Amino acid sequence: MSMEDERLDARLAVITRQPFRAKFHLRRPELEYVARKGLPTVREHATGFIDARLAPASPAKDGKQTPWGGHPVFRAQHATGTCCRTCLHRNHGITKGHELGAREREYVVDVICRWIELEYERRDSAPIDDVPQPRRSG
Ligand SMILES: [Zn+2]
Repeated sequence: MSMEDERLDARLAVITRQPFRAKFHLRRPELEYVARKGLPTVREHATGFIDARLAPASPAKDGKQTPWGGHPVFRAQHATGTCCRTCLHRNHGITKGHELGAREREYVVDVICRWIELEYERRDSAPIDDVPQPRRSG
């Protein structure tokens, strides 16, 4: 793992421990979607969503522009604090009021895709839906 990946993972670990964010995981249909489409395609979708919904200087319906589900990228955005410009500022230090530049967009897409990748790696313990599943101990 590169230094940059390690920094990203460290930041993700802090953000995804927040009680609100920690509730978000990929559910079975979203994991199956990732399996079917593959991560490179999911990344293309993430780029498209970020360009359209998050990158403008004043995104439409900012704070409410990210659905709760329906695409793995949307789940990832809530889990990683990249759902709106306020959360992006609070969690990632990217200020509001300017159009996101190429490097900022790439960073946001990296965050989202890394989270999806980690969720996909632990898919065997994923809940079938939002109902909490009892965890086996030991
Ligand atoms: Zn938000």
